[in-house]
Amino acid sequence: MKIDAIRTHLLEHRLQTAFESASMRFDRRQHLLVEIICDDGTVGWGECLGPARANRAVVETYADWLVGMDPLETEKIWATLYNALRDQGQRGLTVTALSGIDVALWDIKGKRFGVPVSTLLGGRFRDSVRAYATGAFKRDGVDRVTDNAEEAARHRVAGFHAMKIKIGFGFDEDMAVIAAVREALGPDMRLMIDGNHGYDTVEAIRIGRAAAEYGIDWFEEPVTPEHLSAYREVREKQPIPVAGGETWHTRWGMREPVESRAVDILQPDLCGCGGFTEIKRIADLASVHNIRVVPHVWGTAVQIAASLQFMAAMVPNPVRLKPVEPILEFDRTDNPFRQAVVTQPIDHLNGVVTIPDGPGLGIEINRDTLWDFAPKEDR
Ligand code: CA
Repeated sequence: MKIDAIRTHLLEHRLQTAFESASMRFDRRQHLLVEIICDDGTVGWGECLGPARANRAVVETYADWLVGMDPLETEKIWATLYNALRDQGQRGLTVTALSGIDVALWDIKGKRFGVPVSTLLGGRFRDSVRAYATGAFKRDGVDRVTDNAEEAARHRVAGFHAMKIKIGFGFDEDMAVIAAVREALGPDMRLMIDGNHGYDTVEAIRIGRAAAEYGIDWFEEPVTPEHLSAYREVREKQPIPVAGGETWHTRWGMREPVESRAVDILQPDLCGCGGFTEIKRIADLASVHNIRVVPHVWGTAVQIAASLQFMAAMVPNPVRLKPVEPILEFDRTDNPFRQAVVTQPIDHLNGVVTIPDGPGLGIEINRDTLWDFAPKEDR
């Protein structure tokens, strides 16, 4: 079996209402899918986290080494591609692009052996996961406090057991949002806050201390990801468990945060940190240091399906009769192609998502959608 060709598919849609996190403005949704085609006709799909055109350029650079290789040799390919751009790479786009390729190769491997990727990873501990709703950004033209509280009430009615909201817009406004959302959720639903590295250490500690009384499960990306000593200080000086990791890549990038216990909860992104090949190693590294892993998920149904395969095979730590189960990040913001890229949307039922059990990622791509949301330059 040989790799014949690699194709990228850029999906893009301009939003009617733009929204913001503490550090980024979204006026469009944009994602990059990777398609790898083999000489026997087998096709695998992956996705890259981050800016789609930049990822595309790197994926196309990797194609020089990739074409002609055996798609089943995932370790060999990972090491070869990583090494090819290592001197100017090591993290960032060189790894997010490699992640999309690696996910597509595991999809091919699953199809080749007729099993889901979770079987290749060592087997399933679960066939479904509870999802948490990610949303509550700052949307243009509406009052953020009211808007976030109304959204929270919708997630409660939809059956979600947990939701995550965006903060990092300033102490007073953020506290008003946290209070209003907690009221809308009621006392039982779990609530997480995500700073998107919008705070400095002083602000993060202040808001963590004040928010704790609202029953917050974790405080995500309180400070910028380069500052691990600041992460540790936030952990020490406020009571909410600290989460982070969506911008850290590879086992080497995760090593210091894990070994120095910069986070309570590590959030590697499968389509950013290095694909299945690398996230398995990262999860093992975290388990050595007894740090909880909850994957970060922000993408189309291809990324959701891939993350579900990984989550199916995540080993409970510790194994016990009723272990702590991983929960799926489920983006609820506006994106018309997120689920339309697959023929069978991956939806939740009362906040629970069933993990597909077909070969590979267990999904089929809807090529009409790829065409409908292709940018002008691809038509
Ligand atoms: Ca986040």
